[in-house]
Amino acid sequence: MFENLSERLSGVFDRLTKQGALSEEDVKTALREVRVALLEADVSLPVARDFVKKVQEQATGQAVTKSVTPGQQVVKIVHDTLVDVLRGEGDPGALKIDNPPAPILMVGLQGSGKTTTTAKLAKRLKEREGKRVLMASLDTNRPAAMEQLAILGSQIGVDTLPIVKGEDPVAIAKRAKTQALLGGYDVYILDTAGRLHIDEELIQQAAQVRDVAQPRETLLVVDGLTGQDAVNVAAEFDDKIGVTGVVLTRMDGDGRGGAALSMRAVTGKPIRFVGLGEKTDALETFEPDRIAGRILG
Ligand code: GDP
Repeated sequence: MFENLSERLSGVFDRLTKQGALSEEDVKTALREVRVALLEADVSLPVARDFVKKVQEQATGQAVTKSVTPGQQVVKIVHDTLVDVLRGEGDPGALKIDNPPAPILMVGLQGSGKTTTTAKLAKRLKEREGKRVLMASLDTNRPAAMEQLAILGSQIGVDTLPIVKGEDPVAIAKRAKTQALLGGYDVYILDTAGRLHIDEELIQQAAQVRDVAQPRETLLVVDGLTGQDAVNVAAEFDDKIGVTGVVLTRMDGDGRGGAALSMRAVTGKPIRFVGLGEKTDALETFEPDRIAGRILG
């Protein structure tokens, strides 16, 4: 579905570029198509509408410079407006992890890539920032998930909290904190349990852990390919748990980044990182410019 967005935009702008001078009617037609294309890319209607309005405001009355065609100029305005909407405040990669040991809470639905992202983040903090990191899985419903984190930990050379059978998530969070303090860790990352859908138990458990851990950062991991669903999930998690940032996974897939646009516009939460593959080094700081480029195709 995202291919349509890119193809459509190129089609629209190709036509514009070939026409030379740009009439108000041309801009309107182009923007109508931009809106349809955004909708097809699973951007929500209010977001698409808002976006088009912003572009129109920017485009109207702007002098056409000689070095570019009017079409190219509209493309640039669309691109710059996208970057503007996508960009949060400050450096997305700079996590609040002073005052060791700093807790980071990872939340999200099962299958979103939470455990993988926990390991990716730990590796990044260790290698790029020289931090001593401890990871702990709180997914007591799924012993396999706990083991998965331990395996990833040994692969990347990051310690994981030893698994104690029968312990509940709050007890694990407390033990992680103690261990992080005693062990001289800079950061400890709590990988909470995910479920297929948001339900009362999931939220309650995450809230309890949050209250105990008092995380400096609460990162929501969402599958970037799920479009509007990802945005709904983010809005709900933010409402119930409070998140400080979003990690969009599977951005190596076919998606064109439509979810990123809605995510920013609807939740107002900064996108901090994007997942670009299954390997533990496939995590990058979110760059609005690159996603804008992808959305435009
Ligand atoms: P969790 O249930 O949320 O903890 O999800 P996992 O971390 O177990 O990930 C589920 C699947 O998605 C695994 O097969 C991961 O390798 C894969 N995965 C996670 N992040 C990415 C990503 O950014 N790109 C791709 N292609 N696969 C990913």
